[in-house]
Amino acid sequence: MNKCLWELPPVPVGFAKWDYQTVYSLVSFRYSESMSAQTTTSTPLMPEAKMNLVKPKAPVTGRVVTNDICLKSKSNCWVRHTAIDVSGTPLEGNFLVGQSFGVIAPGEDENGKPHKVRLYSIACPSWGEDGAGKVLSTTPKRLLDERKPQKAVDDPEDHRLFVGVCSNYLCDLRPGDEVQITGPNGKRFLIPVNPADHDYVFVATGTGIAPFRGMVLELLENPAGKCERQIHLLMGSPYTSDLLYDDLFTEMARKHDNFHYHTAISRERRPDGSRGIYVDRIFIEEAERLQPLLADSQTIVYVCGLLGMQYGIYKAFSELGVGDGYFTVKDDLAGIPHAEWSSDQMKKSIRATPRCILEVY
Ligand code: FAD
Repeated sequence: MNKCLWELPPVPVGFAKWDYQTVYSLVSFRYSESMSAQTTTSTPLMPEAKMNLVKPKAPVTGRVVTNDICLKSKSNCWVRHTAIDVSGTPLEGNFLVGQSFGVIAPGEDENGKPHKVRLYSIACPSWGEDGAGKVLSTTPKRLLDERKPQKAVDDPEDHRLFVGVCSNYLCDLRPGDEVQITGPNGKRFLIPVNPADHDYVFVATGTGIAPFRGMVLELLENPAGKCERQIHLLMGSPYTSDLLYDDLFTEMARKHDNFHYHTAISRERRPDGSRGIYVDRIFIEEAERLQPLLADSQTIVYVCGLLGMQYGIYKAFSELGVGDGYFTVKDDLAGIPHAEWSSDQMKKSIRATPRCILEVY
């Protein structure tokens, strides 16, 4: 069992145990700015997130605290939970759950220029891994593949190993190593100011689970008070072994009656012999539970992971008759049955509403 999965939330070596007074004031402070504003039941009111306190031209130095595999079991991919100490930098105490931060790998790109910043989702609550906003974390996945042509000019016979720059750099880091960071980034993919006004459906594929690790902890293990509303986490991966933070979410579902953890494994047969499913299919298979929740105007759906994963969700919501609250459809698609919508058509003609918050990359 991976160490990082059972520390709830983890307290890195060298840090004092949680000071609940500190955590409470941090959490209260985070949400205080907008607390006086009134929320409507349907449109979530988001907190004011601080952005770009550290810009790519002048990154600051963080220090790796832990870097552990966070896959369920041995897999043909590698994903780590990387915790970075940002104390003494402008990021300390100034990020919110759901935001991302930037990493600049050392060295130069093929044009001899310094590597560009890559964004990574923050995988911990707003109070960090340490309870005081000094240690943030993320979930880097190694990018290893055979080279494939990306542009018309690329050699189609070139199939040497392709190694992503920043994800492999992050995965290679050891505790104590320094890392150049920027941010925080993102002002939309956040938990609302009044979390108890809403129910939550989180949908992830792959490392898209990262912000939901932070959000689930923020909602359920919040020292300022647990969120009692319904929270469903839907996670899709090709194989069972690729599930991320699976022990943590299984334990959270056991511990909290209002938290429900669903998994969709696409490339394995299920125990009854049926074919695997993609994550959007859970909405149909669990319609009895999820349809009424989705039909409620206070429910917010968050989608994070593979570019294009939202299209299956749009179709599933249309099938359940709950699409209206989550996206608008332009007239050119209106006459076409939703089962026939192509990804290109949906890209052009569907727009998510404030109750459907997307982060796909
Ligand atoms: P790069 O060296 O930048 O290579 C990627 C590029 O290489 C691709 O864009 C593609 O053009 C090309 N390429 C890919 N495969 C091949 C191939 N087989 N042959 C030839 N060329 C190829 N990533 C995570 O791992 N974890 C996260 O939590 C995370 N959060 C994110 C949050 C946000 C808001 C965003 C926007 C992105 C996030 N990402 C995350 C993605 C991350 O920013 C990087 O894109 C990713 O880690 C790959 O970066 P890299 O430097 O390793 O790869």
